[in-house]
Amino acid sequence: MISLGIESTAWNFSVGVVSEDEVIALEGEAYSPKEGGIHPREAAQHHSEVAGKILSRIFRKISPDEIDVFSFSQGPGMGPCLRVGATVARALALKLEKPLVGVNHCLAHVEIGKWLTEAKDPVTLYVSGGNSQIIARRGRRYRVFGETLDIGIGNAIDKLARYMGLKHPGGPKIEKLAEKGTGYIEMPYVVKGMDFSFSGIVTHAMKLFDEGYRAEDIAFSFQETAFAMLVEVTERAMAYLDRNECLLVGGVGANRRLQEMLRLMCHDRNADFHAPPSEYMGDNGAMIAYTGLVMLKHGIRTEVQNSQVRPDFRIEEVEILW
Ligand code: AMP
Ligand code: MG
Repeated sequence: MISLGIESTAWNFSVGVVSEDEVIALEGEAYSPKEGGIHPREAAQHHSEVAGKILSRIFRKISPDEIDVFSFSQGPGMGPCLRVGATVARALALKLEKPLVGVNHCLAHVEIGKWLTEAKDPVTLYVSGGNSQIIARRGRRYRVFGETLDIGIGNAIDKLARYMGLKHPGGPKIEKLAEKGTGYIEMPYVVKGMDFSFSGIVTHAMKLFDEGYRAEDIAFSFQETAFAMLVEVTERAMAYLDRNECLLVGGVGANRRLQEMLRLMCHDRNADFHAPPSEYMGDNGAMIAYTGLVMLKHGIRTEVQNSQVRPDFRIEEVEILW
């Protein structure tokens, strides 16, 4: 079976094609704001402008007739952006008379992580622009054991980066700066039960920047503190659930320091740490294609009349039949 998946929740319009064994094609184009953060309508405009050429690139690698199912990111995400991907997927499925599958974006991050690593039943740390969650499967549902109370860690990093004059996306730039940090500056460490929050630490870091502290030291201290919060809650979930595998997914997962901290935590607990290759960490069409394929194989499809996008779609809402 071959599945085509469209991802368009936020900054990336990406189309992936997968078989049951491998990724066959992956093409996409990122929206990058001229200034400020992601503007939903501008991003959606970008997606609709590039959709045609991305699909042409895909169809040069595989004929549309070879595709058995068309999947799309149904949510969570930005409404205008989601609608572009959903519209393209609906049009393709109707025209080619193939099933349509609406996929939960967070579930897709977890599923591709498991597919591309050895992880079987992990506690997953999902860290991206808009989301930050600790997820594990229990019975027929994935459950969120801890999550951000305000903004996603990626969003927090991007905000700080913009304040320091760095262009979006700030993640890789803050990582580079942090490598040159020499002194740790105290930052607010906010873990409440199993949840955490990042807006206070961003405000604090901005204030330090105004006071003239070195950008390198701010970036370093910010990463050390925010990542420690994430690792603490991930470890607690592993202890509580008695799991010995940790999986890292989402765009922020590309950060080598975060990977190192999780690896150390896993080593101390005799657990395995897993992370898929970087290109499958952030939002991508292959994760939607793969999850759509698994869903269809288990009899799940989305009728066109029920295929509205769901900006607040939660992973717990999906019954896991596999
Ligand atoms: P996603 O929404 O999953 O595609 O993730 C996008 C987010 O990942 C953005 O906020 C980026 O700034 C962030 N990001 C990408 N690379 C890195 C990195 N090396 N370190 C930290 N954050 C990163
Ligand atoms: Mg994501």
